[in-house]
Amino acid sequence: MTIKLLKPIQQKGLLKLGDVICPGDLELPRFSKTEFYKEVDRILDYMEKDDLEGIRFLLTVFSFTPKFIINIILQLSQRSGGGNLILANLRLLNIGLKGIITTLYYSNLDEKGEEIFEVLKWKTKITSIPVESDDLYEHTDEASRMVKLGNEPKDFMIRAKSAQAELREISIEAKVNHLLELKEVILDSRDWIIDEIQKENGKTRSDALISEIFGVLDYLNYLIKFAPRILKDEKVHTPIALLGKKSRIYYEPLGTILIISPWNYPFYQAIVPITSAFIAGNSVLYKPSEHTPLTGVIEKILERAGFKPNWCQIVYGDGKIGSELIDLRPDKIFFTGSVNTGKKIMAQASSELIPVELELGGKDPSIVFEDASLERSVRGVLWGALTCSGQSCTSAEQVFIHHSIFENFKNMILTEAKKVRVGIDTDGDGEIGLMTTSSQVDIVADHIKDALNKGATLLSGNEWDYKSKSIPPLILENITAEMKIYDEETFGPIIPLISFESEQEVIDKCNASKFGLSASIWSKDMIRCERVARALHTGNVSINNIMLTEGNPALPFGGVKNSGIGRYKGEHGLRGFCHQKSVLIDSDSNKVEVNWYPYTLKKYKLFDKMTEFLFRGGVKNFLRFVITGLQIESYSDKEAKRKAE
Ligand code: NAD
Repeated sequence: MTIKLLKPIQQKGLLKLGDVICPGDLELPRFSKTEFYKEVDRILDYMEKDDLEGIRFLLTVFSFTPKFIINIILQLSQRSGGGNLILANLRLLNIGLKGIITTLYYSNLDEKGEEIFEVLKWKTKITSIPVESDDLYEHTDEASRMVKLGNEPKDFMIRAKSAQAELREISIEAKVNHLLELKEVILDSRDWIIDEIQKENGKTRSDALISEIFGVLDYLNYLIKFAPRILKDEKVHTPIALLGKKSRIYYEPLGTILIISPWNYPFYQAIVPITSAFIAGNSVLYKPSEHTPLTGVIEKILERAGFKPNWCQIVYGDGKIGSELIDLRPDKIFFTGSVNTGKKIMAQASSELIPVELELGGKDPSIVFEDASLERSVRGVLWGALTCSGQSCTSAEQVFIHHSIFENFKNMILTEAKKVRVGIDTDGDGEIGLMTTSSQVDIVADHIKDALNKGATLLSGNEWDYKSKSIPPLILENITAEMKIYDEETFGPIIPLISFESEQEVIDKCNASKFGLSASIWSKDMIRCERVARALHTGNVSINNIMLTEGNPALPFGGVKNSGIGRYKGEHGLRGFCHQKSVLIDSDSNKVEVNWYPYTLKKYKLFDKMTEFLFRGGVKNFLRFVITGLQIESYSDKEAKRKAE
């Protein structure tokens, strides 16, 4: 059906306005994704000529107006006119245009509910996985159309492998479009995603919004902008000895990436590695934590972004399923979780030489020097230790404070900690949420009891019963190296305060840790900050800030020692999802290379001279190298042809 009563520019305005009024949700498409607007003539036909002109004028204006301004205009137009002519007209506009849009949208929805899904090619609305329906595994090419497969790990792997060829063929532009779509879907459904995260993980809405939704969107922006360049064939230097040749690196997909994730960031730890693997052209098997599976959430949003089911499959289950998937020999394992599991995975992967990336635990120190801004460092450390109830791999778990400001820092952090609200929220003003699992509560209880038995003092949080998942800030002093809380990962809202005397002493204490994930340094002396940052054996350091290297998607993230192997994010991290293929290109010629047979005494002597001239350096030697190079080339060629006759 073609629209006769609106010009293309006015149709554009109609679609824009339609998306503001009917933005869609997880179940329903946004207005512009439907075909319903094509029926607009049926409404406009009934309009008075003047009204129709008015509508055309407004739609033309809206076609040039950013969506947020249209939104403001609509908000204003909801107000009662109250005798004000402008407001009264705006209100009429609201009623008229909203009427047209909603009539088109909802009347069609009611009658054609089924058709919406046809239009959008949403064949199935997934509500939970494992998936029973065969439709989800329909393939475009006949060769990969699959026999009925079940939900055994091997079935997931067969489907993942069958998707590899298709994914290799999809252009980077098309993949970027899927990420753009994914960004929109996440933005539109962020409230729902936060609800789902909160239900299973227990974190506050603000923690979920800031560290999961915002973090993911920021990373998607990074991939959308930089991945095409990072994954493009790369020209690299070719030395003079290989004159006439070209060197390239191709960044190719590895195949199928197995991603195994923990429970503390169930959305972020899903989408960031999944999209990294996808944009690099891999198919994905994603195994979430059994504690926070977010059942159906990841499938739903990927499907809305146009991902086919076999591009990324979610495999639910515990560690046993994870281990069975490793047995099926994925092309790489991207693991985030505890040190113990990381070691098991690496051992299992080693028998088949499967590449492994391990993002493991930490015991991150914060170092506060005597010249640091007290207020900023106290607030920073407080947040860094308590966000997500301290269940972050980069939580501040050891706070080293220069002895000269120890008492001041202690008093201020105690005062501030008292103000932090504990408990789960429904509206976004909660500060410290719940611990996610009872076993994690037990670990925190064990570390606190152990510290108290060995002489530590609990300065805040005495009201905690050692059982509740709602744990207040636990601030301690008189900490010694014998205590578990000193060098084992606690993963709870703890703030152990430790005094130090000198820069070298604190560096040595930090570097003695078996972990090396992240650290924060607080001081006004930037030369000292940089010196200490270089001296620390960690993967990441934030200076006068905390946990902020994670906030920049361009920075590679990962640890040293027990905190892991490899890096993700940034240019290096993204290339970690690729097979880096080196290619040397020589133009076609009949020449015989000087290093090929036949070897002769004369050739040996010429090569020896050439080696001397090339590597000795200097202009004179360079000229000699060129002359000898020409001599040896011509000699090798002639000699080879003579031998061949
Ligand atoms: P975990 O090691 O218990 O479990 C992580 C995942 O591994 C889960 O999906 C689990 O089912 C799976 N698993 C368990 N045994 C397995 C096996 N034998 N084979 C294959 N898979 C197996 O970790 P967790 O308790 O879920 O997460 C908390 C840990 O994660 C903390 O140590 C934290 O520091 C770490 N972490 C690290 C980072 C990082 O980027 N460095 C980020 C978040 C969390």
